[in-house]
Amino acid sequence: MSQARNLFPFTRPYLPLLAAAVLLLTFSGLLEALIVTLLEPVFNLWSSGSAAGSGPAGARFGFLQNWLGLEEDGALVRIALFLVLFSFLKGVFLYLADNWMAYCGHSVVASLRKRLYQRLLDHSLAFYARHPTGQLMAPVISDTERLQDAVSKKLADFVRQSVLLVAFLGLVFYIDWKLSLVTFLLAPVVLGITTLLGRKVRRLAWLSQQKISDLSQTLQETITGQRIVKAFGMQRYEEERFRETADQLVRVEMKSVRYTALSSPLMEFLGYLLFAPFLLYVSHQIGQGVSVGAFVSFIVALFKLYDPIRKLSQMHLHFQQASASSNRIFELLQTPFDLLDRPGARPLPPFGDEIRFERVSFAYPGQERPVLRGIDLRIGRGEIVALVGASGAGKSTLASLVPRFYDVTEGRLLIDGRDVRDVTQESLRAQIAIVSQDTFLFNDTLRNNIAYGRQDCSMEEVEGAARAAYIDDFIGTLPRGYDTVVGERGQRLSGGQRQRIAIARAILKRAPILILDEATSALDSASEQLVQKALENLMRDCTTVVIAHRLSTVRMAHRIVVLDEGRIVETGDHEQLIARAGVYQYLYRMQHPDESGTPVP
Ligand code: ATP
Repeated sequence: MSQARNLFPFTRPYLPLLAAAVLLLTFSGLLEALIVTLLEPVFNLWSSGSAAGSGPAGARFGFLQNWLGLEEDGALVRIALFLVLFSFLKGVFLYLADNWMAYCGHSVVASLRKRLYQRLLDHSLAFYARHPTGQLMAPVISDTERLQDAVSKKLADFVRQSVLLVAFLGLVFYIDWKLSLVTFLLAPVVLGITTLLGRKVRRLAWLSQQKISDLSQTLQETITGQRIVKAFGMQRYEEERFRETADQLVRVEMKSVRYTALSSPLMEFLGYLLFAPFLLYVSHQIGQGVSVGAFVSFIVALFKLYDPIRKLSQMHLHFQQASASSNRIFELLQTPFDLLDRPGARPLPPFGDEIRFERVSFAYPGQERPVLRGIDLRIGRGEIVALVGASGAGKSTLASLVPRFYDVTEGRLLIDGRDVRDVTQESLRAQIAIVSQDTFLFNDTLRNNIAYGRQDCSMEEVEGAARAAYIDDFIGTLPRGYDTVVGERGQRLSGGQRQRIAIARAILKRAPILILDEATSALDSASEQLVQKALENLMRDCTTVVIAHRLSTVRMAHRIVVLDEGRIVETGDHEQLIARAGVYQYLYRMQHPDESGTPVP
């Protein structure tokens, strides 16, 4: 019920079409039953020369025959025409219904997918950290696919088979309810026996596979372990082991043969066993005046019941799967956002003079241990501040608070005196450019990768940014230039080229605040130089927080902030910090063991 309620808003626009499709499916089922009833006059005409049959009881479907005018001359021609007409109509109805059902299914799934994607894009980074990629992709791709299959194909099949079941059941009961009752009491016995036999044969086939693999394992062991077998004089023992398994295999195979061989004669026998009294009963009924044709229709309708019963009995499996899928889809759709704009949040005015951390502490959502503790830091306009510290000290975490990827646990983060939680996320992030260490490029053209976030900008602007990032020369050498598609995650480019594209992207954004996560992997020196020059262009006029993994790059910084286990332990410039003989000096010595010229107290 709750699933139907969940799905309702997505199916609502298609309900009229769904209803029309169900109606057509119903008509097509009724037409199929009608076709079977037409067999009665055909056989009656053949056996007695009259569509109604010869006996006093007359045709079972006499009213239909009257209605279709089959009592008159040329009945067979009419029947033939009706058969053609009905099957044509049935085909058209089925065709239309299948199309409409599929259209509804695909449309519902498309709107679900769009909604899921839209919500995914608005979730916070904490949400992404909590969910593995596969867990987020499955509901959007495969679960929706399964739901679509259920909504279009399985639902159509369910309606069609249900209509056929009711129509043919009605038909056989209408023709002879007593015979139908006996048939439906006996049918489970026959079905039960076939199912049992089938299960037995499958089990034996599995057992025989086991025995064959036992045999081959024994064989392989004794061939490879011949030396040991001989050394311990175990030939006769191994021979006995092999013989036993081989004999077991024969026994299993023979058992399987017995069941398989039994199956077909038994079914045939059972068939005749049931058919014999049926034959006598039918002859008796015909003697009483019931038409031959009625029983032909009966038998055909009985066979036609096989498909709906088989398909409907398996239907619940498909619906169960679809229901599990729909659960996963709605669980994801209903996951609340954990980082929203406050009601009444205002846009952040253009950046003025400072970013200020006030007694900021931070623990990742769901974790007890704070990663940052008591951070007090002011970054003035135009300043370049380098964050330095051992791996895991909290540098990236500190930087990720500025664009409000996470909310502080304690304290405040202010930009020009405004708490970042009071401004809209969009306006905040519009003023921040981020160049991260794992440069992410989309599988798109170089132009679109550089203009990511500024799709409206002109080609001249893109080229200007590429020049400032020292990547335009390289792009000029490519046969397709800016229209070159970079491959998934920019695989067709080198590490340095990727970084410079990311820098060009940040230059084009022209944001006043820059967060630079220095790449950890070293580049060759030519490439490194280009990246450095590109960075200098990028940082010009920006207020920059640079996460420095390699201390050689921090020399550009006006101020170095050293973090240790989530606390700021030292601040100053390179010389001051080296002179202090603290964490910075230790880290520096670790990275530059050959340098000794710096003063040590
Ligand atoms: P590195 O130089 O190795 O990048 P870092 O100084 O940037 O390290 P952070 O990435 O800020 O350090 O990580 C600080 C601490 O927070 C680490 O102990 C890390 O395990 C933890 N941490 C980082 N990201 C998450 C996250 N998404 N969820 C939970 N804990 C995290």
